[in-house]
Amino acid sequence: MSSNKGVTPRSEDYNRWYTDVVQKAELADYAPVRGCMIILPYGYELWEAVKSGLDRRFKETGHRNAYFPLFIPESFLKKEAEHVEGFSPELAVVTIGGGKELEEPLVVRPTSETIIGWAYAKWIQSYRDLPVLINQWANVVRWEMRTKPFLRTMEFLWNEGHTAHATYDEAEEETLRMLDVYADFAINDAAIPVIKGRKSQSEKFAGAMHSYTIEAMMGDKRALQSGTSHNLGQNFARAFDIKFLDEDNELQYCWTTSWGLSTRFVGAMIMVHGDDKGLRLPPKMAPYQVVIVPIFKREDEKARVMETVQRMQAALKDAGIRVHVDDREGQTPGFKFNDWEMRGVPLRMEIGPKDVEKQSVALARRDIPGKAGKQFVPQTNIAETVGSLLDEIQANMLQQATEFRDANLFEVVGDYQKFGEIVKDGGWALTWFCGDAACEQKIKEDYQCVSRCFPLDQPHPGEHGPCIACGGQADEMAYFARAY
Ligand SMILES: [Zn+2]
Repeated sequence: MSSNKGVTPRSEDYNRWYTDVVQKAELADYAPVRGCMIILPYGYELWEAVKSGLDRRFKETGHRNAYFPLFIPESFLKKEAEHVEGFSPELAVVTIGGGKELEEPLVVRPTSETIIGWAYAKWIQSYRDLPVLINQWANVVRWEMRTKPFLRTMEFLWNEGHTAHATYDEAEEETLRMLDVYADFAINDAAIPVIKGRKSQSEKFAGAMHSYTIEAMMGDKRALQSGTSHNLGQNFARAFDIKFLDEDNELQYCWTTSWGLSTRFVGAMIMVHGDDKGLRLPPKMAPYQVVIVPIFKREDEKARVMETVQRMQAALKDAGIRVHVDDREGQTPGFKFNDWEMRGVPLRMEIGPKDVEKQSVALARRDIPGKAGKQFVPQTNIAETVGSLLDEIQANMLQQATEFRDANLFEVVGDYQKFGEIVKDGGWALTWFCGDAACEQKIKEDYQCVSRCFPLDQPHPGEHGPCIACGGQADEMAYFARAY
């Protein structure tokens, strides 16, 4: 399927490298409809790892999964003014069904606040019904013009959580809790250091009161919004009449939230960790954590080698380690080494006749290239040895990504030209920003970038400074960067 020729080195051409990795590592394939993609098993396994990491956390924080319909009456979208304005250009609309023109066109969901709002209005009557904490795993469609596998596709997979609460404070607490869930998953499972922050008014979700985001720096220094959590205030509750009787028997509008993370995140993993040779997967996310390559020339060697291979495989499997034996015939060990390196498997185990004799195996780490990452270890206690190495690799990948990011964050105060040079050069500029749409627009026109977020962790809390665009007083600093 994939050719033995490696991927275009990342350092040579980042875009071609990305496309090569997606194709040659067999993550996704092209679809007959432009902008859609076929997610191949290896890519889907990465998404499954995302799903299980998040789903466990959603359930631990009291949420349950449900499923809402793909089709939404067009009129629903129009009930929340900002929402319809934000999503109209991206809608796919069904006008014919069963050969007949529909009385009311149906929108293919771009997100589900409206239809879920409609359902919540039916389900919620009293404060006793609150909070409602529901998540759905689904596909959504947004008619994108410029697409890129995983990062931006017309149809994508995601989770969308939708909750309803009695008070603003509870909704805000929920919004931030789920932002923390995303950040915890990104950092501790995917080894992606993310910055938690609040979106500016121009960049917030259409219809939200305010939006929070986790922002990650890709290998080419561009930013990627990797997950979002929105406090919707009472906007959707008013549009859909989601009301409850409070303890004093007064009718109140609910406060709702929504939060999502999509197959985009697979793109983030590729871009944050990949190198010249291809993918590098953090052990917690890797479909195969270890690949064993048997090495032999003669038939009598084969029997001895394979006995050890199977013993090692069983020991790892028993310990819950995801292991794959590459026993393809007609491929050289060298080909297999390169192939699995390109596919990002964290640890490679080589077993040849000499290893059998010495009762050892050779291990090669994907995160440390060449000889430095290679070692010979005894076959006894192999699961323990491998387990702790995988932990080390996981930690090292997070450290590598964090160091790269931190080396490209720059604080700049008041110097608009220097600010421009930083973002043009691909860095992230942290600067005082008043948050006005006009300032955001000016920066966008001058330097082709917008604010990523006001980080929750402000570097100078309580202080003020001059907005980088207008010079007026700003109470917070924001990150600016070019983004995907
Ligand atoms: Zn300003």
